[in-house]
Amino acid sequence: MENNKIEVIVVGAGPAGVSAAITIARAGRKVLLVDRADNVGDKNMFGGCIYAKQTAEIFPKFWETAPIERSITEHKIFMLTDYDSSQFAYRYASKGSYKAFTVFRSKWDRWCVEQAQKEGVYYAPKTLVKELLLENGKVVGIKTQYETYYSDIVIIADGVNSLLAKQIGLRKEYKDSNVTVNVKEVYRLPKQRLEDRFNIDSEDGIAAKILGGPLKDMFAMGFMYTNKDTISIGVGVSLDELKKAKVKPYELLDDLKEHPSIAPYLKDAEFVEYSSHMISEGSIDTIPKVYDNRVMVVGDAAGFVNNIHFEGTNLATLSGKLAGETAVFALEKGDFSASTLSLYYKKLQKSIIIKDLRTHSNTIPVLKKNIKTISSLYPELACEFFNILHSADEVPKSAKYRRFVSKVLRSGAIPKTIPLGIFAMEKCLKK
Ligand SMILES: Cc1cc2nc3c(=O)[nH]c(=O)nc-3n(C[C@H](O)[C@H](O)[C@H](O)COP(=O)(O)OP(=O)(O)OC[C@H]3O[C@@H](n4cnc5c(N)ncnc54)[C@H](O)[C@@H]3O)c2cc1C
Repeated sequence: MENNKIEVIVVGAGPAGVSAAITIARAGRKVLLVDRADNVGDKNMFGGCIYAKQTAEIFPKFWETAPIERSITEHKIFMLTDYDSSQFAYRYASKGSYKAFTVFRSKWDRWCVEQAQKEGVYYAPKTLVKELLLENGKVVGIKTQYETYYSDIVIIADGVNSLLAKQIGLRKEYKDSNVTVNVKEVYRLPKQRLEDRFNIDSEDGIAAKILGGPLKDMFAMGFMYTNKDTISIGVGVSLDELKKAKVKPYELLDDLKEHPSIAPYLKDAEFVEYSSHMISEGSIDTIPKVYDNRVMVVGDAAGFVNNIHFEGTNLATLSGKLAGETAVFALEKGDFSASTLSLYYKKLQKSIIIKDLRTHSNTIPVLKKNIKTISSLYPELACEFFNILHSADEVPKSAKYRRFVSKVLRSGAIPKTIPLGIFAMEKCLKK
C-alpha cells in the first residue's frame, strides 16, 4: 500500500465484508479488509446455520475444508402450549447435496478471512474504524484508532448498528419495533449422546424453531441447533415488546429451557457460553440508501435480513459479492460516483435480496397483529387434535370431533387464518 492509499477498503470481516473483499481481490484489484476484533469472529454471534448456495458462490465446496459443525438434515417446528407440544419435522437425506450447515462464527469467520488472505486480500485485524474520512462531503477513506487510510471506494460491512452508515446519513437509528434482541446459550453433550438424543447420524444436524409456551404473549421465537458436540438454544424477541412486557430476554430463555418438551434435550448438558446480539427485523421499508459517491453498504449494515426465513448470512454474502463486482466495474471505469455505484442497487433489485424483502414487506406487521393466534391458539388446537387422535376412552369420537370443530369455529382461528393465507398468496403472486 503506497502512502496509505489502496483501491478499496472494506470495513468489517463478517460474511458481507469477506465476500466483497474476495470478489475484488479475485479481479486482481487491491483491497484492504479491516476488523476491530482481535480474533475475527470471536464476538460475532448468530443462531445458526449458513446456507450452502450463496456461500458456495464465494467458497466452492467449502464443506470439504471449512470448520462446519453439522449438515442440516431436519427442520423442525415446536408448537408449545404451557406444558405440551406438537412438533412438525421435515427430514431429508442430503445425498451429498447440502442446503445448510451449522457453524460457530468464531471458527467460521477466521477460516473465511484466511481464504481471503490466500486470494490476495490485505487484512488488518484489531483495527477499529472510528469514522469515515470525508473531503468536500465525499468519502475518501477511513480513520482508525491508529492511522488514516485512503481509498477510491469504501464498502461498509460493519453489521447491524453500522455507525459508519449513520455517520454519512445513509442510515437512521432503528426504532425499537424494527429490531429484535437475541440471546443464545451453548450446551455441551458427548457427541454420541447428542446424536442419540436427537436421533441423528454422525454429521447430520437439526435446525428447530420454537413457538408459544413461555413466548406466547409476544412477538418472539425460540431456536435450537445441533453442533458436533454442543446444542445452541436461544430466543429472539422484538425490542418494543420486550420493553412493554418488562421482561429480560434471558428470563424468556430460562423459561423456555424448562418447558417439559425442551428440557429433555438439555438434560445433563454442560453450559458453555452465553451471547446476545441485535438483528434488524428485515423490512424493505427500513432499507437505507445503500450507495453514494465512493461508498456502498452491505449485509446487516444495510438491513439485509429475512427474518421470516431465518436468512442473514446468505444475504450478507450475496450483497458483498454484488458490491464487490460493482467496485471492480467502477475501478475499471475510473469513476466512483454515485451514478456508477448505483449499479450495485440495480444488481440488488434483480437478486433475491430485494425480491424477498419486497415479498415480506408487510409480513412482520401482520404476524405481530396475529401473534396470539399463531403463538397461542394454533399450538393449543394442534395439541388438542393430537389428543383426540390418541385418546382411547369411553367418549365417542364423533362427540370429540364435534367439540373440537366447535372450539375451532368459536376461537376464530379460521377467520383469522384465511386473511393471513390470502395475504401470503397475494404477496407471492405479485411480481
Ligand atoms: C441470534 C441470531 C441468529 C441468527 N441466525 C442466523 C442463521 O441461522 N442463519 C443466517 O444466515 N443468519 C442468521 N443470523 C443473521 C446473521 O448473523 C447476519 O445477517 C450476518 O452475520 C450479517 O453479516 P455481516 O457481515 O453483514 O455483519 P456481521 O456478521 O455483524 O459482521 C460485522 C463485522 O464488522 C466488524 N465491525 C463492526 N464495526 C466495526 C468498526 N467500526 N471497525 C472495524 N470493524 C467493525 C465486527 O467486528 C464484525 O466482524 C442470525 C443473527 C442473530 C443475531
